[in-house]
Amino acid sequence: MITNILSVSDCTDQTSLSDFSPSDKPWDIHASERDQVRNLYLESGHPYARRISDCSQWLDFALTSTDSDEVAFKLQSSKFCRVRHCPVCQWRRSLKWRAKFFQVLPQIREVYPTARFIFLTLTVKNCELADLRSQITIMNKAWDRMAKRKSFPALGWVRSLEVTKSKDGSAHPHFHCLLMVPAGYFDKSGGYLNQSEWSDLWQSALRINYTPIVDVRTVKSKPGVEGDGIAAAVCETLKYSVKPDDLVSGSDWLLGLTKQLHKTRAVAVGGVLKQYLADLEKEPDDLIHVDESSQSGEELGRLRFDWRYEKKQYTT
Ligand SMILES: [Zn+2]
Repeated sequence: MITNILSVSDCTDQTSLSDFSPSDKPWDIHASERDQVRNLYLESGHPYARRISDCSQWLDFALTSTDSDEVAFKLQSSKFCRVRHCPVCQWRRSLKWRAKFFQVLPQIREVYPTARFIFLTLTVKNCELADLRSQITIMNKAWDRMAKRKSFPALGWVRSLEVTKSKDGSAHPHFHCLLMVPAGYFDKSGGYLNQSEWSDLWQSALRINYTPIVDVRTVKSKPGVEGDGIAAAVCETLKYSVKPDDLVSGSDWLLGLTKQLHKTRAVAVGGVLKQYLADLEKEPDDLIHVDESSQSGEELGRLRFDWRYEKKQYTT
Protein backbone atom coordinates (compact mmCIF):
# COMPACT_ATOMS: atom_id res chain seq x y z
CA MET A 1 0.00 0.00 0.00
CA ILE A 2 3.00 2.31 0.50
CA THR A 3 5.76 2.86 -2.03
CA ASN A 4 8.44 5.38 -2.85
CA ILE A 5 7.57 8.46 -4.93
CA LEU A 6 10.56 7.90 -7.22
CA SER A 7 9.46 4.43 -8.20
CA VAL A 8 6.08 5.78 -9.31
CA SER A 9 7.74 8.31 -11.60
CA ASP A 10 9.68 5.41 -13.15
CA CYS A 11 6.41 3.88 -14.27
CA THR A 12 6.70 2.18 -17.62
CA ASP A 13 4.30 0.03 -19.59
CA GLN A 14 3.21 -3.07 -17.77
CA THR A 15 4.70 -2.33 -14.41
CA SER A 16 3.06 -4.60 -11.90
CA LEU A 17 1.01 -3.47 -8.94
CA SER A 18 3.03 -5.71 -6.64
CA ASP A 19 6.28 -4.04 -7.77
CA PHE A 20 4.90 -0.62 -6.90
CA SER A 21 3.20 -1.68 -3.78
CA PRO A 22 4.40 -5.01 -2.33
CA SER A 23 1.67 -4.98 0.31
CA ASP A 24 -0.88 -5.22 -2.53
CA LYS A 25 0.55 -8.60 -3.57
CA PRO A 26 -2.59 -10.36 -2.23
CA TRP A 27 -4.45 -8.92 -5.23
CA ASP A 28 -2.44 -11.14 -7.59
CA ILE A 29 -2.85 -14.19 -5.37
CA HIS A 30 -6.61 -13.89 -4.92
CA ALA A 31 -7.21 -12.94 -8.55
CA SER A 32 -5.37 -16.11 -9.67
CA GLU A 33 -7.58 -18.14 -7.35
CA ARG A 34 -10.59 -16.27 -8.72
CA ASP A 35 -9.67 -17.41 -12.25
CA GLN A 36 -9.36 -21.01 -11.07
CA VAL A 37 -12.77 -20.88 -9.41
CA ARG A 38 -14.22 -19.26 -12.51
CA ASN A 39 -12.77 -22.05 -14.67
CA LEU A 40 -14.30 -24.71 -12.43
CA TYR A 41 -17.72 -23.05 -12.73
CA LEU A 42 -17.17 -22.72 -16.46
CA GLU A 43 -16.38 -26.44 -16.88
CA SER A 44 -19.67 -27.29 -15.21
CA GLY A 45 -21.69 -24.72 -17.13
CA HIS A 46 -22.62 -22.88 -13.92
CA PRO A 47 -23.95 -19.32 -14.41
CA TYR A 48 -21.54 -17.95 -11.78
CA ALA A 49 -18.73 -18.35 -14.35
CA ARG A 50 -19.96 -15.33 -16.26
CA ARG A 51 -20.37 -13.18 -13.14
CA ILE A 52 -16.89 -14.01 -11.87
CA SER A 53 -15.40 -13.30 -15.32
CA ASP A 54 -16.24 -9.63 -14.82
CA CYS A 55 -14.90 -9.44 -11.27
CA SER A 56 -12.01 -7.07 -10.45
CA GLN A 57 -10.55 -7.08 -13.97
CA TRP A 58 -9.21 -3.59 -13.39
CA LEU A 59 -8.30 -1.60 -10.30
CA ASP A 60 -8.12 2.18 -10.03
CA PHE A 61 -5.88 3.45 -7.28
CA ALA A 62 -5.48 6.96 -5.93
CA LEU A 63 -1.90 7.80 -5.04
CA THR A 64 -1.43 10.09 -2.10
CA SER A 65 1.69 11.38 -0.42
CA THR A 66 2.52 10.41 3.11
CA ASP A 67 4.51 12.29 5.76
CA SER A 68 7.60 10.25 4.97
CA ASP A 69 7.68 11.15 1.25
CA GLU A 70 6.18 7.87 0.23
CA VAL A 71 3.10 7.13 -1.80
CA ALA A 72 0.07 5.37 -0.41
CA PHE A 73 -2.05 3.32 -2.79
CA LYS A 74 -5.73 3.43 -2.06
CA LEU A 75 -8.30 1.62 -4.16
CA GLN A 76 -10.80 4.05 -5.67
CA SER A 77 -12.84 1.90 -7.98
CA SER A 78 -13.29 -1.54 -9.43
CA LYS A 79 -16.14 -3.92 -10.07
CA PHE A 80 -16.83 -6.93 -7.87
CA CYS A 81 -19.01 -9.95 -8.66
CA ARG A 82 -20.05 -10.69 -5.05
CA VAL A 83 -20.33 -14.41 -5.73
CA ARG A 84 -19.99 -16.02 -2.30
CA HIS A 85 -17.09 -18.28 -3.23
CA CYS A 86 -15.24 -15.78 -5.41
CA PRO A 87 -11.79 -15.66 -3.73
CA VAL A 88 -11.36 -11.94 -4.39
CA CYS A 89 -14.79 -11.04 -3.05
CA GLN A 90 -14.52 -13.23 0.02
CA TRP A 91 -11.14 -11.66 0.80
CA ARG A 92 -12.55 -8.12 0.46
CA ARG A 93 -15.59 -9.08 2.54
CA SER A 94 -13.41 -10.38 5.34
CA LEU A 95 -11.22 -7.23 5.27
CA LYS A 96 -14.38 -5.16 5.48
CA TRP A 97 -15.72 -7.14 8.45
CA ARG A 98 -12.41 -6.83 10.28
CA ALA A 99 -12.25 -3.09 9.62
CA LYS A 100 -15.78 -2.73 10.97
CA PHE A 101 -14.85 -4.61 14.13
CA PHE A 102 -11.78 -2.48 14.77
CA GLN A 103 -13.73 0.67 14.04
CA VAL A 104 -16.23 -0.02 16.84
CA LEU A 105 -13.86 -1.73 19.30
CA PRO A 106 -12.92 1.55 21.07
CA GLN A 107 -16.62 2.26 21.69
CA ILE A 108 -17.17 -1.25 23.04
CA ARG A 109 -14.15 -0.86 25.32
CA GLU A 110 -15.44 2.45 26.58
CA VAL A 111 -18.78 0.93 27.60
CA TYR A 112 -17.30 -2.38 28.83
CA PRO A 113 -13.83 -1.37 30.02
CA THR A 114 -13.14 -4.49 32.08
CA ALA A 115 -14.65 -7.07 29.74
CA ARG A 116 -12.36 -9.78 28.37
CA PHE A 117 -12.47 -11.90 25.25
CA ILE A 118 -12.20 -15.63 24.70
CA PHE A 119 -11.81 -17.43 21.39
CA LEU A 120 -13.78 -20.62 20.99
CA THR A 121 -13.80 -23.19 18.21
CA LEU A 122 -16.75 -25.58 18.16
CA THR A 123 -16.75 -28.62 15.94
CA VAL A 124 -19.00 -31.55 15.08
CA LYS A 125 -18.19 -34.84 13.40
CA ASN A 126 -17.44 -34.61 9.69
CA CYS A 127 -20.35 -35.17 7.36
CA GLU A 128 -20.92 -35.96 3.71
CA LEU A 129 -20.97 -32.82 1.58
CA ALA A 130 -24.57 -33.66 0.62
CA ASP A 131 -25.56 -33.42 4.31
CA LEU A 132 -23.71 -30.18 5.03
CA ARG A 133 -26.73 -27.90 4.88
CA SER A 134 -28.73 -29.93 7.38
CA GLN A 135 -25.67 -30.23 9.62
CA ILE A 136 -25.31 -26.43 9.64
CA THR A 137 -28.99 -26.05 10.57
CA ILE A 138 -28.39 -28.41 13.52
CA MET A 139 -25.33 -26.39 14.60
CA ASN A 140 -27.20 -23.09 14.38
CA LYS A 141 -30.06 -24.42 16.51
CA ALA A 142 -27.61 -25.86 19.02
CA TRP A 143 -25.84 -22.51 19.26
CA ASP A 144 -29.16 -20.76 19.96
CA ARG A 145 -29.94 -23.25 22.72
CA MET A 146 -26.45 -22.88 24.19
CA ALA A 147 -26.56 -19.07 24.17
CA LYS A 148 -29.77 -19.19 26.22
CA ARG A 149 -28.28 -21.40 28.94
CA LYS A 150 -27.56 -19.82 32.31
CA SER A 151 -24.04 -21.17 32.21
CA PHE A 152 -23.28 -19.45 28.87
CA PRO A 153 -20.94 -16.69 30.04
CA ALA A 154 -20.80 -14.27 27.11
CA LEU A 155 -22.14 -10.74 27.24
CA GLY A 156 -21.85 -10.63 23.47
CA TRP A 157 -20.40 -12.73 20.67
CA VAL A 158 -19.40 -12.94 17.03
CA ARG A 159 -19.55 -16.33 15.35
CA SER A 160 -18.48 -17.42 11.90
CA LEU A 161 -18.87 -20.65 10.02
CA GLU A 162 -15.93 -22.31 8.32
CA VAL A 163 -16.08 -25.46 6.23
CA THR A 164 -12.89 -27.35 5.41
CA LYS A 165 -12.46 -30.40 3.23
CA SER A 166 -11.17 -33.51 4.97
CA LYS A 167 -8.70 -35.89 3.36
CA ASP A 168 -11.46 -38.46 2.78
CA GLY A 169 -13.55 -35.83 0.97
CA SER A 170 -16.03 -35.30 3.79
CA ALA A 171 -16.95 -31.83 5.03
CA HIS A 172 -15.75 -30.45 8.35
CA PRO A 173 -18.02 -27.58 9.41
CA HIS A 174 -17.05 -25.64 12.53
CA PHE A 175 -17.71 -22.36 14.27
CA HIS A 176 -15.08 -19.79 15.21
CA CYS A 177 -16.45 -17.64 18.01
CA LEU A 178 -15.20 -14.54 19.73
CA LEU A 179 -16.94 -14.14 23.08
CA MET A 180 -16.89 -11.06 25.26
CA VAL A 181 -17.12 -12.13 28.91
CA PRO A 182 -17.29 -10.12 32.13
CA ALA A 183 -13.96 -9.60 33.92
CA GLY A 184 -15.22 -11.76 36.80
CA TYR A 185 -15.58 -14.80 34.51
CA PHE A 186 -12.06 -15.90 35.37
CA ASP A 187 -12.66 -15.75 39.14
CA LYS A 188 -13.53 -18.86 41.13
CA SER A 189 -17.23 -18.03 41.32
CA GLY A 190 -17.45 -16.25 37.96
CA GLY A 191 -18.75 -19.17 35.95
CA TYR A 192 -15.44 -20.03 34.28
CA LEU A 193 -15.65 -23.03 31.94
CA ASN A 194 -12.61 -25.10 31.08
CA GLN A 195 -12.23 -26.91 27.78
CA SER A 196 -14.04 -30.08 28.85
CA GLU A 197 -16.89 -28.05 30.37
CA TRP A 198 -17.27 -26.17 27.09
CA SER A 199 -17.28 -29.50 25.32
CA ASP A 200 -20.04 -30.77 27.65
CA LEU A 201 -22.09 -27.62 27.12
CA TRP A 202 -21.78 -27.87 23.32
CA GLN A 203 -22.60 -31.60 23.41
CA SER A 204 -25.73 -31.03 25.45
CA ALA A 205 -26.84 -28.16 23.18
CA LEU A 206 -26.28 -30.38 20.13
CA ARG A 207 -28.13 -33.29 21.80
CA ILE A 208 -25.58 -35.79 20.53
CA ASN A 209 -24.10 -38.90 22.08
CA TYR A 210 -20.43 -38.23 21.35
CA THR A 211 -18.03 -35.68 22.82
CA PRO A 212 -17.43 -32.92 20.27
CA ILE A 213 -13.96 -31.41 19.92
CA VAL A 214 -13.83 -27.90 21.30
CA ASP A 215 -10.92 -25.52 21.65
CA VAL A 216 -10.99 -22.50 23.92
CA ARG A 217 -8.34 -19.81 24.39
CA THR A 218 -8.18 -16.68 26.44
CA VAL A 219 -7.48 -13.64 24.31
CA LYS A 220 -4.60 -11.73 25.83
CA SER A 221 -5.57 -8.21 25.13
CA LYS A 222 -4.76 -4.78 26.43
CA PRO A 223 -6.08 -1.70 24.66
CA GLY A 224 -3.36 0.20 22.83
CA VAL A 225 -0.72 -2.48 23.33
CA GLU A 226 1.09 -3.62 20.24
CA GLY A 227 0.58 -7.26 19.36
CA ASP A 228 -2.82 -7.08 20.99
CA GLY A 229 -4.24 -10.62 20.98
CA ILE A 230 -7.66 -9.35 19.99
CA ALA A 231 -6.38 -8.53 16.50
CA ALA A 232 -5.35 -12.14 15.88
CA ALA A 233 -8.62 -13.47 17.29
CA VAL A 234 -10.69 -11.09 15.16
CA CYS A 235 -8.73 -12.05 12.06
CA GLU A 236 -9.27 -15.73 12.76
CA THR A 237 -12.99 -15.24 13.41
CA LEU A 238 -13.66 -12.96 10.47
CA LYS A 239 -11.79 -14.77 7.73
CA TYR A 240 -12.96 -16.71 4.70
CA SER A 241 -15.58 -19.39 5.30
CA VAL A 242 -13.91 -21.74 2.83
CA LYS A 243 -10.14 -21.61 2.38
CA PRO A 244 -8.99 -20.87 -1.16
CA ASP A 245 -7.07 -24.17 -1.50
CA ASP A 246 -10.29 -26.06 -0.87
CA LEU A 247 -12.28 -23.86 -3.26
CA VAL A 248 -10.00 -24.75 -6.16
CA SER A 249 -9.65 -28.44 -5.26
CA GLY A 250 -12.23 -29.60 -7.78
CA SER A 251 -15.53 -28.78 -9.44
CA ASP A 252 -17.57 -31.42 -7.56
CA TRP A 253 -16.54 -29.95 -4.23
CA LEU A 254 -17.08 -26.35 -5.38
CA LEU A 255 -20.51 -27.03 -6.87
CA GLY A 256 -21.55 -29.07 -3.83
CA LEU A 257 -20.51 -26.26 -1.49
CA THR A 258 -22.23 -23.65 -3.65
CA LYS A 259 -25.48 -25.56 -3.34
CA GLN A 260 -25.13 -26.51 0.32
CA LEU A 261 -24.08 -23.06 1.57
CA HIS A 262 -26.52 -21.07 -0.58
CA LYS A 263 -28.02 -18.36 1.64
CA THR A 264 -26.62 -19.84 4.82
CA ARG A 265 -25.25 -17.29 7.24
CA ALA A 266 -21.49 -16.79 7.24
CA VAL A 267 -21.29 -14.51 10.27
CA ALA A 268 -23.69 -14.05 13.19
CA VAL A 269 -23.55 -11.56 16.05
CA GLY A 270 -25.39 -11.63 19.37
CA GLY A 271 -25.82 -10.22 22.85
CA VAL A 272 -24.61 -6.73 23.57
CA LEU A 273 -22.31 -6.75 20.52
CA LYS A 274 -25.32 -6.83 18.20
CA GLN A 275 -25.89 -3.08 18.46
CA TYR A 276 -22.30 -2.38 17.38
CA LEU A 277 -21.76 -5.13 14.84
CA ALA A 278 -25.12 -6.02 13.28
CA ASP A 279 -23.66 -4.91 9.91
CA LEU A 280 -21.39 -7.96 9.91
CA GLU A 281 -24.41 -10.17 9.25
CA LYS A 282 -25.13 -8.45 5.95
CA GLU A 283 -23.26 -8.44 2.67
CA PRO A 284 -21.06 -5.32 2.85
CA ASP A 285 -22.31 -2.72 0.39
CA ASP A 286 -18.82 -1.45 -0.33
CA LEU A 287 -15.93 -3.79 -1.12
CA ILE A 288 -13.69 -0.94 -2.30
CA HIS A 289 -12.90 1.02 0.87
CA VAL A 290 -12.05 -1.80 3.23
CA ASP A 291 -9.42 -0.22 5.41
CA GLU A 292 -10.24 2.58 7.76
CA SER A 293 -6.86 4.29 7.59
CA SER A 294 -7.47 7.83 6.48
CA GLN A 295 -4.96 9.13 3.98
CA SER A 296 -4.94 12.84 4.50
CA GLY A 297 -1.98 13.46 2.18
CA GLU A 298 -2.17 15.28 -1.12
CA GLU A 299 -3.49 13.25 -4.03
CA LEU A 300 -0.70 12.86 -6.57
CA GLY A 301 -2.67 11.12 -9.26
CA ARG A 302 -4.42 7.95 -10.26
CA LEU A 303 -3.12 4.68 -11.63
CA ARG A 304 -5.09 1.94 -13.31
CA PHE A 305 -3.99 -1.68 -13.24
CA ASP A 306 -5.46 -4.35 -15.50
CA TRP A 307 -5.53 -8.05 -14.79
CA ARG A 308 -3.24 -10.06 -17.09
CA TYR A 309 -4.56 -13.57 -17.14
CA GLU A 310 -1.40 -15.15 -18.57
CA LYS A 311 0.99 -13.31 -16.28
CA LYS A 312 -1.27 -13.72 -13.24
CA GLN A 313 -0.54 -10.13 -12.34
CA TYR A 314 -2.15 -6.71 -12.27
CA THR A 315 -0.07 -4.34 -14.38
CA THR A 316 -0.35 -0.80 -15.71
ZN1 LIG B 1 -15.69 -11.55 -7.16
